[in-house]
Amino acid sequence: MTTIENNLGQIHARMAAACGQANRSVTSVQLLAVSKTFGADAVREAVLAGQRSFGENYIQEAVEKIAAVRAMGLPGAEALQWHCIGPIQSNKTRPVAENFDWAQTVDRLKIAERLSAQRPAGMEPLNVCIQVNVDGGETKSGVLPGDALALAEAILKLPNLVLRGIMSIPDDAPGFEAQCAVHQKAAAVFELIKASGLPGLAQFDTLSMGMTGDLEAAVAAGSTMVRVGSGIFGRRTYGTPTP
Ligand SMILES: *Cc1c(COP(=O)(O)O)cnc(C)c1O
Repeated sequence: MTTIENNLGQIHARMAAACGQANRSVTSVQLLAVSKTFGADAVREAVLAGQRSFGENYIQEAVEKIAAVRAMGLPGAEALQWHCIGPIQSNKTRPVAENFDWAQTVDRLKIAERLSAQRPAGMEPLNVCIQVNVDGGETKSGVLPGDALALAEAILKLPNLVLRGIMSIPDDAPGFEAQCAVHQKAAAVFELIKASGLPGLAQFDTLSMGMTGDLEAAVAAGSTMVRVGSGIFGRRTYGTPTP
């Protein structure tokens, strides 16, 4: 068994234990493998171990890696899902619209409009999440919780996007209780939008939060997708979680 395969097993075991603690079904939480800074060979190992969804932060790196993995012709490759989880500047929307299945870090209407306009006609609509800033100041990425519903309403009117949920990247909090408290703020935004009755929310089902260090707290607070990098691929030698 490879290290990556072994690590994936350990993360799945942690997720299952966290679901058990929270009285949730193990199928209610998905694993996004964050492969940023690791090469196509590492992705290949994870795919061969059964992993299908991958998160990338740096768009140019991701575009090259997606092409390299595609060229490998791996079994199961048609089911791969690539998620953009890094900041999206407006001059980078086109490669995101053309190469990814999901963009999780939408925090401004202008970015959403460009992604919708630039999504190629032959592709499925782009899945998007609204990134919510639950703990930072005005300099941090993400929409403030009080502004998320209005952004959701505007995104729902765009033709080539499907609004799938909420994502957040809180700063490290000290200990389980503090981690839960901050994740609950994102969960509250998710529930508010879900209960809003806005048209077009049929696929609004994703609460993306929790990483290697705090996935248990995120699952306790209702996460439906944990994003795990170092716990699967090992320590990164360059790149930081929130560039
Ligand atoms: C890097 C990154 C992760 C994974 O972090 P780990 O601590 O390595 O699990 C998750 N989400 C985002 C947005 C990231 O940038």
